[in-house]
Amino acid sequence: MRAKRSLGQNFLKNIGIAHKMVSMAAISAEDTVVEIGPGRGMLTRVLLSHARCVIAVEKDDALHEHLQRSLHDREGLHLIHQDILESDLARLIPDNAKIVANLPYNIATPLLGRLVAHARRIAAVVVMLQKEVAQRICAKPGEHDYSALSVIISAGFDASPGFIVDPANFSPRPRVVSQVIRLVPKAEPIPLEDLGLFRTVVTCAFSQRRKVLRNSLSHLSGMDRDLLQRLATETPLDLGARPQDITPEVFHLFSRRYGEARILTPPA
Ligand code: SAM
Repeated sequence: MRAKRSLGQNFLKNIGIAHKMVSMAAISAEDTVVEIGPGRGMLTRVLLSHARCVIAVEKDDALHEHLQRSLHDREGLHLIHQDILESDLARLIPDNAKIVANLPYNIATPLLGRLVAHARRIAAVVVMLQKEVAQRICAKPGEHDYSALSVIISAGFDASPGFIVDPANFSPRPRVVSQVIRLVPKAEPIPLEDLGLFRTVVTCAFSQRRKVLRNSLSHLSGMDRDLLQRLATETPLDLGARPQDITPEVFHLFSRRYGEARILTPPA
């Protein structure tokens, strides 16, 4: 079976990495784990030896078939042939499940963005992704890598960086270095009904990260100078600051106020 670059197929060849990921997720015999992209099954086998149940979602036809043949006798394994980006995550992820995966590079950002809406029901997420993306997710306000992605993920999770993985641990060898991160759900994730506008505001603020917020946020729909000044005072948000200095909590407060103002005066 040839690895498909379009599906981010870089398979682990060092089982020690799979064991380290499983211990970082503290998988125990009571756990249900959702694995995204089981591939040739190295991580899946290690997960199966620790967890009660593993739900493994693979998009590739040939790999799904291969896994069905090679792991058909493994108790507790549910193989699902699906594109995770098209899956209904509310149905797929059981309450209190852990997510463990060596993610294909091209879906890591949209997938983790979607998981935010399910943070309340997830016990923990331990995933391997491209090191640069891992560092952006884990960055804190004021740090160089702090970005829209850091703020959006923080709406649901506290992110912490784990170990770095050299390309030599995969076949075929990827061009980039990988890193494992852990996401733990926040005690109080941002309410689901606030998430849409929160993302809109954060994306707008970081779309021009060198500009001060007075300039970037003026591009929000229905925003004018007076409204922006009023919302900033109520939040309070420093309109002379750049987005990388603003905490997720302040972005959330601002987006709530913006939402309330839009209800009172809907955009024309
Ligand atoms: N878990 C295996 C390992 O560690 O060796 C494979 C990891 S490989 C980086 C990514 C896997 O995700 C591949 O098996 C690929 O076919 C699968 N994949 C890619 N896109 C996917 C998608 N949208 N939904 C589900 N699986 C996907």
